[in-house]
Amino acid sequence: MLLKEGGPHKRRFTHQIMKTATIAAVATPPGIGGVGIIKISGPEALKIAATLFRSCKNDNNTRKADRGHLLPINFQSHRLYYGHIVDPETENSADEVLLAAMPAPRSYTREDVIEIQAHGGAAALSVILALVLRQGARMAEPGEFTQRAFMNGRIDLTQAEAVIDIINARTETALKIAANQVSGQLKITVENIRSNLLDVLVHIEAAIDFPEDISDILSMTDLKAKLHREVAVPIVDLMQNYREGCIYRDGLKLAIVGCPNVGKSSLLNCLLKRDRAIVSPFPGTTRDLIEDSFQIQGVPVTITDTAGLHEAEDPIEKIGIQKARECLKTADVILQVIDGSEEITADDYEIFSFFCGKPLIVVVNKIDLVLDRKTVAPKVTAHWDAPLTVEVSALNGDGIDHLKGCIADAVALKPQDVHHDTVIPNLRHQRALEKCHRNVLSAINALEENRTIELVALDIQEAVGRFDEILGLNVDNDIFEKIFSRFCIGK
Ligand code: GDP
Repeated sequence: MLLKEGGPHKRRFTHQIMKTATIAAVATPPGIGGVGIIKISGPEALKIAATLFRSCKNDNNTRKADRGHLLPINFQSHRLYYGHIVDPETENSADEVLLAAMPAPRSYTREDVIEIQAHGGAAALSVILALVLRQGARMAEPGEFTQRAFMNGRIDLTQAEAVIDIINARTETALKIAANQVSGQLKITVENIRSNLLDVLVHIEAAIDFPEDISDILSMTDLKAKLHREVAVPIVDLMQNYREGCIYRDGLKLAIVGCPNVGKSSLLNCLLKRDRAIVSPFPGTTRDLIEDSFQIQGVPVTITDTAGLHEAEDPIEKIGIQKARECLKTADVILQVIDGSEEITADDYEIFSFFCGKPLIVVVNKIDLVLDRKTVAPKVTAHWDAPLTVEVSALNGDGIDHLKGCIADAVALKPQDVHHDTVIPNLRHQRALEKCHRNVLSAINALEENRTIELVALDIQEAVGRFDEILGLNVDNDIFEKIFSRFCIGK
């Protein structure tokens, strides 16, 4: 176990992660930009800043930074200083910068933090970082700043996890969900249920320790009702949000499949609203998977145009078809494109049979070439059993909005339900909630069947442990490392 509970501001650590080294990293993405930021956190941060920074009142550009004075270590908190970062051995300026100082505990990590805003080129930032490291800081590991914020009690584990969700958010809705979690909504919800559970445990333990003095102890019927109403039901509510949350957070995977020349690449381009795939009248143009993203009702959608699933002799085409099969296995929704202007072929039907059980939409394309649209539906239903069919023209865009609506329906998207305060667990929380729910049901059964009260207490204690896992009060080391390994360096 990594942590023991010790109050919000003071946790006891048993792991080597409790380091007091001063860490530093470039916090902005690699590449060229107007501004790049270097972050330093730890006990030496202010001293390092004082050694390297020369403040200057006037904007002059001489290379020798002899204009300024040393920054006192006790400079003002949360104030922006203008000056230069210099090599203290030569006093040569590395870059003209703005420097922000955030002494502990009013900082992201609750340690002393310095942020240096320099010019955003790779050279300027690496020279400054090298100077900082030379003063005794070490390179931060991925997610180490957030890890320290967690270790120092500024955030709990659900909030730390939400930081990475904010960084990775691809749509406004995903961002809203992550921001809500960073603000502590999931933590508050979980803490409330945990507190109700502890309340029941207090009564159960009192009944074990003082069996003769039961006047202050709730009856077993009341405890059972309390467990159901205040613990089991809210856990189920939370778990129900999971699937929807996954889609908003992780996005939806769509795969386009169909025989050659039916218009798969044209459909991809039409959904993306740009020419991403080559469209040609010659079959077999798409040999590899083509992947891109767009949005449907605030949900990030990854769409893949596959090479089709037909028999092929060409070895390159064969590899493409194998890749297509693998991609189709993991897709949330499959769009099977058929050519509405032609007869349905045995190959069309064979593709369909391959996907039994997956949400599949039959996209009848080239509808602009069909003179009598009434003939389309009977043609499809003659082969497919109650298919979800959408008629489109990838050439002129007809039916594409309707198709997007059908995709949303196929995965039961309800974006209007995602309010700013919707609490959505991730997979790790969901697993813990499932186990917790089983413990609570087992406790309720034990109470119903008048089993020994000690067994009830055991189940409830285990359930409390599951909540502790979610909040990070009690987490296995490998889970902890897995969470922070998802972060980038500098966050
Ligand atoms: P794929 O092999 O299934 O990816 O098919 P393509 O997207 O490359 O299209 C094959 C041919 O059909 C091209 O000549 C397209 O211009 C044409 N095509 C695709 N969609 C439509 C459509 O909706 N209407 C018409 N009239 N032609 C289309």
